[in-house]
Amino acid sequence: MDLSIVIPLYNEDESLPELAAWIERVMQANNYSYEVIMVDDGSNDNSWNVIESLREQNNNIRGIKFQRNYGKSAALNEGFKAAKGDVVITMDADMQDSPDEIPELRKMIIEDGYDIVSGWKKVRYDNTITKNIPSKLFNAAASKTSGIKLHDFNCGLKAYKNKVVKSIEVYGEMHRYIPVLAKWAGFKKVTEKVVEHRPRKYGVTKFGWNRFINGFLDLISILFVGKFSKKPMHVFGLWGTVVFFIGTCIWIYLAITKFAFEKFNMTDRPIFYVGLISIVIGTQLFLAGFLGELIARNSADRNNYLIEKKLGI
Ligand code: UDP
Ligand code: MG
Repeated sequence: MDLSIVIPLYNEDESLPELAAWIERVMQANNYSYEVIMVDDGSNDNSWNVIESLREQNNNIRGIKFQRNYGKSAALNEGFKAAKGDVVITMDADMQDSPDEIPELRKMIIEDGYDIVSGWKKVRYDNTITKNIPSKLFNAAASKTSGIKLHDFNCGLKAYKNKVVKSIEVYGEMHRYIPVLAKWAGFKKVTEKVVEHRPRKYGVTKFGWNRFINGFLDLISILFVGKFSKKPMHVFGLWGTVVFFIGTCIWIYLAITKFAFEKFNMTDRPIFYVGLISIVIGTQLFLAGFLGELIARNSADRNNYLIEKKLGI
C-alpha cells in the first residue's frame, strides 16, 4: 500500500465529508493505493455516523472510535498502530491542511529518502496574537533545545516512513514533539516543507490558551526523558554527590575551626545551615537517582533497540 492517511478528529462532523472527497480526488489523480484512518477521539457530535456512511461509499476509509476524549496524541498513536502504507501522512480533520500537498510529501519520503517531512505553515490563518507569537517562541525553544531545525513542530500535516511511526509511542500531549521522539528513536533525516494553511471552515479550535504552558512543560520532560531516562543515576547521582560533598566540606571546616581555634555555637554560624541543607539535598538527589534506576530497570522498553541491519544472523 502506498499511503496511510491518519486523521485524528474530535467533533468535526461538518468537515469530514468534504475532506474525504478531496482526499479521494487527490488519491485517484495519482493512482495511489491508500487507506484513510479516521480516529474519532471520543466525539460527541455526529462524527462517527459520518465516518460510517463515508465508509459505505469508499472502503479505503477506516475508522477507530475512542470511548471518550483521550487527546490528539492518543488518536495519532492508535492510527499509527493501524497504518499499513509505506508512507504515513497525518493531517488535521478541519481542512486547515490541504490534501493537495500529499503527493509532494510522499515524493520527499520515497525519492529523497527522508524519514520525516514536517509541514511548515509559513503563512498562517489563525487568530494572530494568541497563536502566532507564542508559537514562534515555542518553536524557537523547541528547535534550540532539541537540535532539530524545524520552524513549525506542531503542524498537523506531516509525512513519515512507515517504520518511523511503528517505532515511536505518542502519549500525553507529545504530538507536538513527534520529530523529537523520532530523533531519540534514531531517525535523523528530518526536513520540512512549506505547506498551504487554510482558515478553519467549520467548527472551532480544540486547543485553548493553556496549550502553551502544557507545550513548554512537555518540552522540558521530553528533553529530560530523552537524555536521561535510561541512566537517571548519571544525573541525580552526580549532582547528589557534588552537593553532599559541598555540605560535608562545610561541616569539616566548621568542626576544625570550632575545636582547634575558637569556641562558638555551631548554629550561630549561617554557613552551618548551608552545610546542613546541602547534605540533606545531596542525599535526596542520590535517592532520586536510585529510584530512577529501579524504574528504568523495569520499564517495558529498556531494551527496545531499533535494529537497522543484520549480517549473518
Ligand atoms: N483533535 C483531537 N482530539 C482532541 C483535540 C483535537 O483529535 O482532543 C483533533 C482536531 O479534531 C483536529 C486536530 O486535532 O483534527 C487539530 O485540532 P485543532 O484544529 O482544534 O487545532 P488548531 O488547528 O487550532 O491548532
Ligand atoms: Mg485546526
